[in-house]
Amino acid sequence: MMYVKITKETTMKKKIFMLLITLLVLFVSSISYAEEYDIERISGKTRFETAVEISRHEFRSSDTVILVNGYSFPDGICGTVLAAKYSAPILLSSAYKIPDCTKNEIIRLGAKNIIILGGKGVISKEIENELSDDYICERFGGKNRYETSLLIAKEIESDEVFLTSGSNFQKSLLISPYASKNQIPIVLSPKYNIPSSTVDYLSDKLVTILEPEEKISFEVANNFYSKRIAFSGDIEQDIIDISKKYSVNPSAIVLANRNEFPDSLSGYIVAYNNDAPFILVNPKIISKKLLKHIENTGVNKIIILGGKGAVSKKIIKQIEGGSENYDQYANPFKKNISTDMLQIRSNDVTRKVLEKITITSVVNKCNRLPDSYTVNNLVEVPHYGSWRMYLAPEAASQWKKMFAKSEEAGLRIYLVDAFRTEEDQQWLFDYNYSNDPDWALRYVAFPRSSEHEMGLAVDISYDESLPQNFYSTPIGKFLDKNAHKYGFILRYPEGKSAITGISPESWHYRYVGVELATELKQTGQTLEEYYDLVKE
Ligand SMILES: [Zn+2]
Repeated sequence: MMYVKITKETTMKKKIFMLLITLLVLFVSSISYAEEYDIERISGKTRFETAVEISRHEFRSSDTVILVNGYSFPDGICGTVLAAKYSAPILLSSAYKIPDCTKNEIIRLGAKNIIILGGKGVISKEIENELSDDYICERFGGKNRYETSLLIAKEIESDEVFLTSGSNFQKSLLISPYASKNQIPIVLSPKYNIPSSTVDYLSDKLVTILEPEEKISFEVANNFYSKRIAFSGDIEQDIIDISKKYSVNPSAIVLANRNEFPDSLSGYIVAYNNDAPFILVNPKIISKKLLKHIENTGVNKIIILGGKGAVSKKIIKQIEGGSENYDQYANPFKKNISTDMLQIRSNDVTRKVLEKITITSVVNKCNRLPDSYTVNNLVEVPHYGSWRMYLAPEAASQWKKMFAKSEEAGLRIYLVDAFRTEEDQQWLFDYNYSNDPDWALRYVAFPRSSEHEMGLAVDISYDESLPQNFYSTPIGKFLDKNAHKYGFILRYPEGKSAITGISPESWHYRYVGVELATELKQTGQTLEEYYDLVKE
């Protein structure tokens, strides 16, 4: 079967790889430690550049390139096995524009074929047309992630299949070094209601379900012959168990960020070429359990994917310090935010006691939600992204109308966020604060002072991440013209940061009802100004 051929190629590739290391070492930001571990980092300034650096590191040339959306994981995560089949790098694009670094890398590789993963909303028709001038383009894009994964799987000749959940990327990427090497396709399934086309495909396969029943139900599993390797669903344990089971004698370990998919997706080839499992870590700290696991594998080579924001220097220190000295190096990043600091960063407005929260209430750094406040009857709202989003009932019904209007205009609106619980907000704040305190204090509201906790705010985008230059995009323009007609206002406009306490956010819209939204739109006021809360 495929295995032999691939292994041979791999050995060849390894030789080239060793040669390339000596040649390319100057071009890659690379740190080596003489001590116990040989540690190397492959990174670029952005996710797109990191993918390019990985490609440069592993490929002298390639006939084929796999192109995936760098902000949206569902269509790309099953592409590693296909990429391995063609010995192809995985490069990243955004939905409507290919970054220059990606274009240049395709040229450097001397590629002839480009395989695009995902539908036209994931990587646009315009990009495909542009590439078709110079390359043979093929697209695997189904109606949704499940169909796309099936289309990709059908390209791989195999009696075996791994079935994972489409709701997260970690499991698919953790299995990808083994699946790529053995050419076993990865197929995505929802918890219930697996598409009949997927059932047909799986009917004559040996299916290994890598999820617990909470992720892929018994009802789904019952449709075909399958065995379930019930990985616990606890990410730390899953990382260790998958590494132990599918990477028995690794020659290296590949460390990547567990909260973001692009580095490990593009980095599949690094794991593949080094017979290495992925160990996915939080950016700032590695647990003692994972550290012990790394030590138990007996490897002395560690390759890090992504910059210091993805896998920090502190993690390297912890690994080098060893699990015995763990406590000395670990210093969990829970920060206590002093009230002084909050005061300094507060918006310069008067406090107004919030007695009853309504759709028109001001909530900001000075005016926090009462502790007792909860949102009832949250309603799921439509959008093109992969996460489920919820709003309070009135905001939800107005959103649905606006969303329908945007679809009529041919737009595909993604929500990056809508309702958040207080815990979500706390996590978001802590996470961002630990990465970049200054950014967090400028952009992220403190728990109980976010409009997202009211179920009245949405972060709108053209893909799964917070958008750049949003005002000038078709969706940005649509919102500027229409949002108020549905009761939504741009809440943190340019030039009003001192009043709102939040740096301009082109993506954050707040529902205040049609009447107030229209008035604010006409007068150009913020909510703080409307309620006359601005200090003289
Ligand atoms: Zn927001």
